[in-house]
Amino acid sequence: MDKTEKTEDSYASTRMNFPDDESKLRWLPMLLDAYAIIDKGIALAIRNEEHRLDKKLACRRGCSNCCSTHSDIPVYPLELVGIYWFCIEKITQPVRNVIIGHLSGFEKSMPCPFLVNSSCSIHMLRPVSCRQFNVFGKTCEEGEDPYYTRRDDVLTPLEEYTKQAFSVMLPFYGITGETDKIYAIENGLIHAHVRILQALDWKELAKRMEEFDSKKASF
Ligand code: SF4
Ligand code: SF4
Repeated sequence: MDKTEKTEDSYASTRMNFPDDESKLRWLPMLLDAYAIIDKGIALAIRNEEHRLDKKLACRRGCSNCCSTHSDIPVYPLELVGIYWFCIEKITQPVRNVIIGHLSGFEKSMPCPFLVNSSCSIHMLRPVSCRQFNVFGKTCEEGEDPYYTRRDDVLTPLEEYTKQAFSVMLPFYGITGETDKIYAIENGLIHAHVRILQALDWKELAKRMEEFDSKKASF
């Protein structure tokens, strides 16, 4: 899913920062913190697996068959808020109009609507599930889901990082106390909120992007 080529430096995760937005949007710092933890866990897991399998990560920029093949990408409400914000406020032309077109006409059987010119247009805000899907050895064939064709080549994320990242996101769902957080993580309560990206009606986002553009033009 549109990976940036991994280098030694990328094993140390860098948190994305949007200081102005983060001061206004209370949910944004927790989402960015969570993604930084996920990215760090992935980088470490990739390093371990490359060593164990004696195979290199196959995912790289511009490789995107998985974004067309996968039909059940999990996405959580906080992630959706992030995607809405990023698309409405941050994505610029000419990609913006392409995405609006994809979202307006999106149907379940289509490739992910955020895939533009073989790249993820929401790369910074792509969901955890996209961040964690990594494949070793060779790149995926068109239509291949390596989870079923060669499970051994698919990265198994480090559970402790996934749990830590989801724990950071819990206040968005009203879970704030440390004991409650531990209980929620150990019992997978957050998964009750999961949605499937392809099953969502994306027309609303297209409409919100257009409304934002009209408002901006009228100033
Ligand atoms: S190798 Fe497969 S999982 Fe990795 S980016 Fe390419 S298509 Fe996606
Ligand atoms: S959000 Fe869509 S385009 Fe981006 S990585 Fe995930 S599946 Fe691919």
